[in-house]
Amino acid sequence: MKKSGIVAALLGVLCIAASSGAFAQKLYWTTSGYFGPFDIRGLIPALPVDKSRQITIPVSMWVLDHPKGLVVFDTGNNVAISDSTDNCKAYWAPGNCDFLKPSQKRADVIDMQLKKLGYSADKVKIVVTSHTHLDHVGNIAMFPNAIHVMQKKELYQGWWPEKFQGRTTPGTFVMADLMSAREFNYLELDGDYDLFGDGSVLILATPGHTIGHQSMKVKLPQSGTIILSQDAVWMQENLDGYPAGLNFSVQAYTNSLQRLKMMRDIEGAQLFMAHDGDQFKAKGDRWYK
Ligand SMILES: [Zn+2]
Repeated sequence: MKKSGIVAALLGVLCIAASSGAFAQKLYWTTSGYFGPFDIRGLIPALPVDKSRQITIPVSMWVLDHPKGLVVFDTGNNVAISDSTDNCKAYWAPGNCDFLKPSQKRADVIDMQLKKLGYSADKVKIVVTSHTHLDHVGNIAMFPNAIHVMQKKELYQGWWPEKFQGRTTPGTFVMADLMSAREFNYLELDGDYDLFGDGSVLILATPGHTIGHQSMKVKLPQSGTIILSQDAVWMQENLDGYPAGLNFSVQAYTNSLQRLKMMRDIEGAQLFMAHDGDQFKAKGDRWYK
């Protein structure tokens, strides 16, 4: 073998060694800008007046680097609402812009977040979407080549919500978010799913907030088990027993919330919520390894 051939072979071996580490897995928590400030009772009307406070909340998105591929869990608010209230009102229902007060800048959008972390959007293999509300499914169109993982029921609902959920678009569901992604490849689930077949990333069916909401449970080498509830649990007050004010089914929501809570306690896991300002401030914008 020529000298150059030996070098090439050695480099090949080194590349394989570098890419096959079982501990290459890490998870980043980021946000698509913030919502607020507004009165917490706008979201949790069951909360007593004396527990009322102004909140500013994250719009949680997750980037997971797994040896078998790069995963994004939720894609945040659509890029079109970035940078100004006028932009927001041109894409979302003006009432949602006035109530939620999104502060998203162009640099906060998932493609730029990936870039900041050293990835490009076209390298994302899998996009998991918790549910089809405007602050979670907003940018799936940025990932035309990914496999999109959603509960089948959630796809049905995104396209045709129950009347009480509001069918006017744009509303809480924004048809334009889904429209351009209609021909993408969807792994349509009906329940829990072991994403890579190795037990390290579980999709958990957590219906209630919407009909086909899903959460995620990730096992990491150093951080242990982390549960990403997304909107199955918005924030601490929901864990304290005050239900979210927006639900497809309160019964299913309660069951899902209790399921995640007990899973957390049994496994000694950390539970990260979608819209808890205090938790994100303390634990967001960082890698978990
Ligand atoms: Zn949400």
